[in-house]
Amino acid sequence: MPSVFINTFGCQANKSDSERILGDYLSRGYVEVDNWRLADEIVINTCSVRQSAEDRVTGFLLNVDKFFAGSQRPKIILTGCMLHFNEKEIRTLLPQIDEILPIGEVGFNQKAIRKEKDKAFIPISSGCNSFCTFCIVPFSRGRERSRPIDDIVREVAELSKEGYTEITLLGQNVNSWGLEKVGVALRKMFMDKDTFNPDIIPSNQSQYFKPQDTPPFVTLLREISKIDGIQKISFFTSNPWDFWDELVDEISANPKIDRFIHLPVQSGSNRILKLMNRGYTQESYLDLINQIKAKIPDAVFGTDIIVGFPGETDKDFQDTLNLVKEVGFKVAFVARYSPRPGTVSAKLFPDDIPARIKKERWEILDQIANKDNLKSRPIVP
Ligand code: SF4
Repeated sequence: MPSVFINTFGCQANKSDSERILGDYLSRGYVEVDNWRLADEIVINTCSVRQSAEDRVTGFLLNVDKFFAGSQRPKIILTGCMLHFNEKEIRTLLPQIDEILPIGEVGFNQKAIRKEKDKAFIPISSGCNSFCTFCIVPFSRGRERSRPIDDIVREVAELSKEGYTEITLLGQNVNSWGLEKVGVALRKMFMDKDTFNPDIIPSNQSQYFKPQDTPPFVTLLREISKIDGIQKISFFTSNPWDFWDELVDEISANPKIDRFIHLPVQSGSNRILKLMNRGYTQESYLDLINQIKAKIPDAVFGTDIIVGFPGETDKDFQDTLNLVKEVGFKVAFVARYSPRPGTVSAKLFPDDIPARIKKERWEILDQIANKDNLKSRPIVP
């Protein structure tokens, strides 16, 4: 039987995709091996969030080259976020690649092969239309696509029958599930130096398209909650602009929904938030947090923050520190800004914060947001 080894880099969404990629391989008669030296095919599921993540892929391929020097090496297939490069760029950058696999070709409904037997990750949407200026996802994963509700509910019901009790719904912008938006025109505008103006960034955030009725994501949560056997429902990543009042009320009223709420803020400075095209302000973010705290007293918060975004001043950083202290996050994933080729910020804003300052700010923030909270750190999905 042919064998496959899947090397997964990056976030939970990639790990979930790899579960379905493995399912696809097994359905075609392959067996999984846990050592790439023994595989007939190697799938590399890549991450592009930082340059270091892409460097790890390059390093892995050099190891493969070295090991198989002079002999027949496995077929190598590339998927994941590095597909934001076009095929020609990939073949120049990574000449070892034999085949490129867009993740959409695997599909949401391919049976996932999960290693855990009680907790399952379930993709409910893919791609993003929000175009935060630092982020490669809208280019690597394309426009937001929501998986049909019947397919999601059917998969959760099957998992429940298999004994799974905890599920985590996954999406780049999970709480905008069901609100398909069109971002193509904005993408063009964002990528064009002549039309980009940070003072008039046309936000594609769906707070401007607030649904009249119950938000679809709330409906989805209610449907999944009805499934016997499912005891805990988490979701990841929520974005502040789609965290509707109705969602807060639903979490408050529904004991099956996890009280850990991950809400990436990225910066506490309104000036930087605007340059990031985040579609909210420090004040509106804090209003949301306070609303959640009032309605869900046992809520705990996590966040993502970037330090050293182009032009970030000491005052901007202080605004972030103030926000972090005010919210009292239990965990914060703090990243030092690194320009990703193809994004708006990489094209338009010089990466002008010295590495030394980025490191200093990272250490200060990590201390305040994480280390000071170690004793009461929650379980992060
Ligand atoms: S919401 Fe922003 S940061 Fe999140 S995936 Fe979309 S573009 Fe990237």
